[in-house]
Amino acid sequence: MLERFLHLLFPDVCIICAEPLHEGEEFCCRRCISGFDSFSSPLESGEVLRHAIASRSGGRFSFEHGWCLHRFHKGNPLQMALHSMKYEGLFTLAESFGSQLGKWMLSGGNAGGIECIVPVPLHYLKKIERSYNQAEKIARGIGDCIGKPVRPELLGRQRWTPSQTSLPAALRRKNPEGAFLAAGTSIPGHILLVDDVVTTGATMRAAAKALQNAGAERVSLAAIALAAS
Ligand SMILES: [Zn+2]
Repeated sequence: MLERFLHLLFPDVCIICAEPLHEGEEFCCRRCISGFDSFSSPLESGEVLRHAIASRSGGRFSFEHGWCLHRFHKGNPLQMALHSMKYEGLFTLAESFGSQLGKWMLSGGNAGGIECIVPVPLHYLKKIERSYNQAEKIARGIGDCIGKPVRPELLGRQRWTPSQTSLPAALRRKNPEGAFLAAGTSIPGHILLVDDVVTTGATMRAAAKALQNAGAERVSLAAIALAAS
């Protein structure tokens, strides 16, 4: 909470290094952003995401297009930015990341067929704890940018799953299966599913399967970051 409080008091300092922000900088200074491990193109990010999910989530899962901005490493400046976004209530930062993702998608030229955007839902207990779902804020940033509606009501959580980071890899893969339930009617043909960080891909896979089982013909994926293996 301290960082959030400081950011409210001093909105003109970088949330990572606390140095003053310059003209055109928002939340993070250019120096800190230059330390992010960013993908070189939207196409590259999609290919790496596809390969990572196929090899980590243990099973076939086809998705239409995929986008992410950065690789996530422990200790990278991005970790601090994402921590502020997730646990310190900086939801405007989540919207800003969403807006960057939307521009990234448009620059890649494959975003045209998407009909609506669905954030990966948080379990309601976690939502109470954090007071907002960061994936929904990211989705709103994307939606404003690409001009498509955000429809969180299309996907819900069925049961609580322990935090992915506390589980061994084999359990992490199995853990989210069956955790999601999609709304039964009027599922659009092509849905963009949004989360903050893809780790094993198992959460995305389980959420996408729920949407596909409910009638979505195509599911594309977008996340701020893909965890480096
Ligand atoms: Zn900085």
